[in-house]
Amino acid sequence: MDFLPIFLNVKGKLCLVVGGGTVAKRKAGVLLEAGASVRVVAPQIEAGLVEQAGVEAVLARFEQQHLDGVAMVIAATDDQGVNRQVSELARARNIPVNVVDHPELCSFIMPAILDRSPMMVAFSSGGASPVLTRMLRGKLETMIPQNYSRLAAFAERFREPVKKRVTNPAKRRIFWENALEGVVAEKVLTGDEGSAEKMMQQMLASEDNIQRGEVYLVGAGPGDPDLLTFRALRLMQKADVVVYDNLVSKPVLDMVRRDAEQIYVGKKRADHTLPQEEINELLVRLAKEGKRVLRLKGGDPFIFGRGGEEIETLAGHGILFQVVPGITAASGVSAYAGIPLTHRNHAHSCIFVTGHLKDGTMNLDWDALARPQQTIVVYMGLHGLATLCSELVAHGLPGDTPAAIVQQGTTQNQRVVTGTLATLNGIAQAANLQAPTLIIVGGVVTLREKLAWFNPGN
Ligand code: SAH
Repeated sequence: MDFLPIFLNVKGKLCLVVGGGTVAKRKAGVLLEAGASVRVVAPQIEAGLVEQAGVEAVLARFEQQHLDGVAMVIAATDDQGVNRQVSELARARNIPVNVVDHPELCSFIMPAILDRSPMMVAFSSGGASPVLTRMLRGKLETMIPQNYSRLAAFAERFREPVKKRVTNPAKRRIFWENALEGVVAEKVLTGDEGSAEKMMQQMLASEDNIQRGEVYLVGAGPGDPDLLTFRALRLMQKADVVVYDNLVSKPVLDMVRRDAEQIYVGKKRADHTLPQEEINELLVRLAKEGKRVLRLKGGDPFIFGRGGEEIETLAGHGILFQVVPGITAASGVSAYAGIPLTHRNHAHSCIFVTGHLKDGTMNLDWDALARPQQTIVVYMGLHGLATLCSELVAHGLPGDTPAAIVQQGTTQNQRVVTGTLATLNGIAQAANLQAPTLIIVGGVVTLREKLAWFNPGN
């Protein structure tokens, strides 16, 4: 370590800036923000600097007496002679000195900062590479949301109440980790401090709640991990336990925190590993054990995902949860298969239905489906494909309406077969397709021939 990083209190202290140009102005600005008063010494001083409150301007060349009463000095002139003189005289008096862009003349250096006051990130390459520092800054900007200031202020407001309520320091640390990494923090970061406050009150209301975990109902998308949202990834790396089913692809599962416990509750057609009610109860139990539970679901949790039922149960037990949308199969799979779901010439509406058979029949509003200029996307439809095609034709769609089946869309195993309502069932039988599959019916399917060729997903 070449320098000791510290945060200096300069409130009300007099600091000297030697130089009157743009850089000097910027440095004076930072000092003023930190509450210092600033003496600027230069024969000429840029407009906008002198006028600021807290600035004492001295229109002169630098001289020794300008150091009188000064707590620190920054030299920002383009005259190396002056810079060197400032450095030597300041050091002789033990006044901390910084010469911009000349580490060898400095007794301290100024870091780059990311100001999320009261949270402050300071970093430096020790003068080695300002470009690298700037690049790092860009990365940090995206990692630390603007609203971190609010989060820190929020935490400060609750510091004393939490200290009173949770007296054991180890428990208190866990409490804060849960609050600042979980649903409460997400609420503050999205600007909903009202809900965040209520949640904190609820967590503090009873001993039980302090220990309580929470549930993240996260959409994992259709398979390709690149289609996860940032928020999904953030929560996947936070969770203590993941509850997932068979639609969640292996590469997506690999992105969950390594030491998280994994519980498979997979559902295949006719092979319900765990009934839905038991999954709902499992989530409640895990949360009550104090765990951060990731409920990972294929596609979007609210589209044919029974996510609504899961959070109803959680709400009934007073467990905090958040829902993260995912890319649903219809949009992910169609994009990778080169089939736009709507198109000016082919479809002005698009309808998502489930083709799940109940007692051997498909309970759908066929008249609403069999409309011209409409794309129909059928989830869970392969088993009932023959019924689907014949009913659509019986209700008025031409037998030559284009139709496609996409197997394991967006994954390495994606396969697309196309035909018409008249031919698709036969083609599908011969193709020996593997679940999951998505059926797309409508004129848009013909666009695939033109578009899929350019599509790296296929
Ligand atoms: N919540 C999910 C859908 C769950 S229902 C979502 O929003 O996507 C399960 C059905 O989704 C499957 O039977 C299949 O029809 C469809 N599906 C999900 N992922 C798919 C994929 N990668 N390729 C093709 N179909 C998929």
